[in-house]
Amino acid sequence: FADNPLKGPLLARLYSTQPSLQKEDSDVKGGFKGHDMLAPFTAGWQTTDLNPLIIEKSEGSYVYDANGKKYLDALAGLWCTALGGNEPRLVAAATDQLNKLPFYHSFWNRTTRPSLDLAKELLETFTASKMAKVFFTNSGSEANDTQVKLVWYYNNALGRPDKKKFIARAKSYHGSTLISASLSGLPALHQKFDLPAPFVLHTDCPHYWRYHLPGETEEEFSTRLANNLENLILKEGPETIAAFIAEPVMGAGGVIPPPATYFEKIQAVVKKYDILFIADEVICAFGRLGTMYGCDKYNIKPDLVSLAKALSSAYMPIGAVMVSPEVSDVIYSQSNKLGTFSHGFTYSGHPVSCAVAIEALKIYKERNIVEKVKSISPQFQDGLKSFSDSPIVGEIRGTGLILGTEFTDNKSPNDPFPPEWGVGAYFGAQCEKHGMLVRVAGDNIMMSPPFIMTPEEIDTLISIYGKALKATEERVK
Ligand code: PLP
Repeated sequence: FADNPLKGPLLARLYSTQPSLQKEDSDVKGGFKGHDMLAPFTAGWQTTDLNPLIIEKSEGSYVYDANGKKYLDALAGLWCTALGGNEPRLVAAATDQLNKLPFYHSFWNRTTRPSLDLAKELLETFTASKMAKVFFTNSGSEANDTQVKLVWYYNNALGRPDKKKFIARAKSYHGSTLISASLSGLPALHQKFDLPAPFVLHTDCPHYWRYHLPGETEEEFSTRLANNLENLILKEGPETIAAFIAEPVMGAGGVIPPPATYFEKIQAVVKKYDILFIADEVICAFGRLGTMYGCDKYNIKPDLVSLAKALSSAYMPIGAVMVSPEVSDVIYSQSNKLGTFSHGFTYSGHPVSCAVAIEALKIYKERNIVEKVKSISPQFQDGLKSFSDSPIVGEIRGTGLILGTEFTDNKSPNDPFPPEWGVGAYFGAQCEKHGMLVRVAGDNIMMSPPFIMTPEEIDTLISIYGKALKATEERVK
């Protein structure tokens, strides 16, 4: 990297989370340069030489750009197109519903059949703890914002006006609206946005490789984190802490599965102080980890659950919150007193989104999607983890169909490569060159392929990963 040609504006673009932005010249049809969108999570969108990768078509586990170039979609869109890019039954479910009733709302005791049916179906799928009601949103962020409002409403109803603080974890991702970004533990989501909101506290990120003390076992690490959580609660005053929120496996923070005994110990602390447990299942639900829900895998018994993404396999925007009977009973009694429960979105329970989600759940069941993920994930995990010996790989971690790679020097969490080298971005660009899309965040690479991947496609994925890794090694060393 001493003679790194990636200088100036191009280097600046390497910091983008989209490796495609490294293209020097637009190779997109029509000479498209820059764009008019204030693009989400994009660096340099305001420059005129920005060349976005325009995706025009999807088919199975692949997407195609405007030039017809084919990419293996190793992130399933944004961790969401679980059934791949052209599931005809989802398209039919949407068009049938569009023809019958494209829209009606769910306010004032009016609603639609698909939203009622989906709520019923969802409650049946969740068995880790008892859930009684479902509230629909349009996204995971709205689901997590809704969680905060529900929990506050609940504690107000119980006459506990001080029990309002939320504890989330460093490196978590819970969305990008004001409240869900506050819950998120990623500094970039807070910087210059005047966040996090003051009622949000962050506790340790449960990343054993990065944060364990010398000689500390995973179990001991989990005990220390649970103790830290308890100390935080005691310091703040348990009467002020309303809820704890966690992703079963952290996604956007770098794919971080929990260390052994972590959730068991954390749940014991949370329970001791009458703090609600919110499981953010936006990425983990519906099979991603080889179990129907992340809660099933880690024996989490939440009071509230957030859902989105694979709920509709992302074919239509939809999110949901599931609420335990204990919490929903209190919310009902309060809203009966007030005359109404004044929270909702125009598109809460949108009939087309709900119809698609019902069909997605049906397909997951019929195709035994959990078993399917379980059967292909060893090939995915073992194949990629076989690259762990690479001198530029710090750690490769994951479970089921989700995996993260962290590039560091000397295999040490304490020896990051200089950010200006753009190691992660270079790897991402190499993947793209060889026809695969991954998520790049600094020197973290994340993958969460569609559940429908064939063994041949997983072989292709591993082979492209290997080529990109080799090219990156050659550049770094
Ligand atoms: N929660 C988790 C765990 C997520 O990964 C995401 C999105 O990636 C969200 C919430 C936010 O969802 P959305 O982007 O639909 O608002």
